[in-house]
Amino acid sequence: LELCRELPKIELHAHLNGCVRDSTLLELAKLLGATDVEDVILKKGRSLKECFQLFDLYHILTTDHAILTRITQEVIEDFASENVVYLELRTTPKKNEAKGMTKRSYMEAVIDGLRAIDTVEVAFLPAANSENLIGSLPNDITHNETQRKKIFVRLLLSIDRRETTAAAMETVNLALEMKDMGVVGIDLSGNPEVGEWQTFLPALQHAKEKGLPVTLHCGEVPNNKEIHSMLDFYPQRIGHACYLEEEHWKKLKASKIPVEICLTSNYRTERISTIKEHHFADLYNANHPVSLCTDDVGLFSTDLTKEYDLAASTFGFNKEEVFQLSRNVIKFVFADDDVKRTLAAIYDAAEKRFM
Ligand code: IMP
Repeated sequence: LELCRELPKIELHAHLNGCVRDSTLLELAKLLGATDVEDVILKKGRSLKECFQLFDLYHILTTDHAILTRITQEVIEDFASENVVYLELRTTPKKNEAKGMTKRSYMEAVIDGLRAIDTVEVAFLPAANSENLIGSLPNDITHNETQRKKIFVRLLLSIDRRETTAAAMETVNLALEMKDMGVVGIDLSGNPEVGEWQTFLPALQHAKEKGLPVTLHCGEVPNNKEIHSMLDFYPQRIGHACYLEEEHWKKLKASKIPVEICLTSNYRTERISTIKEHHFADLYNANHPVSLCTDDVGLFSTDLTKEYDLAASTFGFNKEEVFQLSRNVIKFVFADDDVKRTLAAIYDAAEKRFM
């Protein structure tokens, strides 16, 4: 586990509200006088349905500008503390009239959280806008304990499957407007039992036409037609891919679309019965692009260190294989080539220490 902690890691699939610390949720619940939710927050094994009920509770606790700023700050600190060097954090911009919140002001509160961090060094702006943070990274990349940790953060805006076409379009337009604030793409997520692919397609098509990368939650439940449509859309990445059938696998493997793998999340929500039989093994052996991810650090009581450790112990990886698994993810990040080059330099430096 210590080795996986030390390993530089890249996180591509983490939902902001799913990564909130339990201690923060309990504190917020107490402030709101909702003391009867403690058992719900601390319960460990959860079905998919329970997870989405819990998200509704989280959103009651967290949808407020100041709280969003705080949870963003804490989530980034937590990822940086376990040597995540690049994080693509996704979140669903939400309107909340009672709080005077628009999708834009929601995202501004998140970005305030990025700015507010001083315990770790955060580079979240594209090169042209960075205040030399990115420039300072390549020459100074050792993870000396006395130095502050450094992390690149980029944002993905999520479309919730409960949303209308117009709301989805608003999110895509907001992402396009916020490209210079570190927004690098769009995610489609939310309860997989809800909503129709056709509802989101116009907005996703718009993102594609504007050159904004897209990642889709794909095959979280069996849905033959939707999985085909999603693969035909040819997104830059997909997440989960639990319920693909033979013809879907063929299509996916031919397409080389990278898959964000969430081992603990899939196991906890009972989409697989053992980690050993997770489709990660098949994709890995077929040399298909994959990246290990946490999905929801708080909800599933995991972190990226544990996910790498779990993969290594389940599938018998040696040090070199674990390092390569992590390093390979550089290719699938949505940030620009400058960031990719810096990440490559970080891994080069780490390789000497790690091996
Ligand atoms: P938020 O976007 O920051 O509010 O993060 C929580 C949201 O992410 C949830 O309400 C879901 O829409 C989405 N989400 C988190 N985990 C999952 C998952 O496993 N499947 C699908 N959607 C998810």
